[in-house]
Amino acid sequence: MSGGNNKHYRDATRLVTGGRRPEWTQRIVNPPVWRASTILYDNVAQLRDSATRDTHHRLFYGRKGTPTQWALAEALTDLEPGAEATFLYPSGVAAISAALLAVLSPGDELLLPDSVYDPTRGFATGFLKRFGITTRFYDPTVGAGIADLISDTTRAIFMESPGSLTFEVQDIPAIVAVAKEHGLVTLLDNTWATPLLFPAIEKGIDLTILACTKYVVGHSDVMMGSVTATPELWQTLRSTSFALGQTVSPDDAWLGSRGLRTMGVRLAQHGKSALTIAQWLQSRPEVARVLHPALDTCPGSDIFHRDFKGASGLFGFVFNGGDEESRAAFIDALDLFGIGYSWGGFESLATPVDPQRIRTATRWEAEGPAVRLQIGLEDTDDLIADLEQALACIRTRP
Ligand SMILES: *Cc1c(COP(=O)(O)O)cnc(C)c1O
Repeated sequence: MSGGNNKHYRDATRLVTGGRRPEWTQRIVNPPVWRASTILYDNVAQLRDSATRDTHHRLFYGRKGTPTQWALAEALTDLEPGAEATFLYPSGVAAISAALLAVLSPGDELLLPDSVYDPTRGFATGFLKRFGITTRFYDPTVGAGIADLISDTTRAIFMESPGSLTFEVQDIPAIVAVAKEHGLVTLLDNTWATPLLFPAIEKGIDLTILACTKYVVGHSDVMMGSVTATPELWQTLRSTSFALGQTVSPDDAWLGSRGLRTMGVRLAQHGKSALTIAQWLQSRPEVARVLHPALDTCPGSDIFHRDFKGASGLFGFVFNGGDEESRAAFIDALDLFGIGYSWGGFESLATPVDPQRIRTATRWEAEGPAVRLQIGLEDTDDLIADLEQALACIRTRP
């Protein structure tokens, strides 16, 4: 197989060939599960010698990984032209915290978008604050205006586009340009788009993060995260991750690799179905606004069409009036949509969202309560019929 040299191929081919080095697969198609804590040496001299050598892609001790984890990490790196390496973490949140700890030190300031994933906010305002790192929240639609927020202590700009819950699209190229001018590190939570829809390193991001739990795994059965780094930052990221003892089980990595091979076709279908349903919802009188980056009712949709290769399967909508109770009645009336956290699996989900409870730098104003939908791989006509009957339920409520 490609053996780490598939950069000239297109995305779909890279998804199939990535990480399948013969020395890692032993000619088994999907890299097998290499379980290890202890690695045995022939003699003391070899053990001592091993400790002095670079452990990247060399068996040393289970915590530093085996070919099962390296294969998935390499396949993810292969999807990011210009990237040097990827490290895996036991969750998306672990990936985010490791990436931030790799680049921040006491006294530094971090810029976070107000639409950031809430646990990222919590890590910054709780944990990082305790270690003398301050956070300034910014309007996700600020674009090049981010320059006005930079101070002497600013060290890094974090982005997430589209934003969690509210889906504002950020002008990443404009923010990256300002960051480069000021010598700041840029980080992106790219979970929604994945490198298939937004190749982050190519767009100038230094550290790009995925909650692999979502589309990479794709089957709602594994927690995992990844950070992919530039040639300048990968060793800093690696030493921080090793210092924190971050490691992923080979069984989980194997499931991640298995999921990744079909991520392209899954994502294309999620995207197509979600857009169909978003457009249908937009035509409904019960719906005030659909928060889908490809629709012009979503802030930054022009930027979305300029920068992204397509949309994935997660979006939101705002009811035209109503309250907490009518929203709950709607969600409870759905048959095909599960009620639960996370997304990116093969099944549809609906969750109530309340951005106004979280924000600190901007105000979230809406015509009614909001719902987030993850569109799975079910037939869209069935999903639309389900949404229609649930909307009918709330219309006929006493
Ligand atoms: C789910 C999610 C995460 C966290 O991933 P976990 O694997 O659940 O820790 C991070 N960022 C975004 C945008 C997410 O949706």
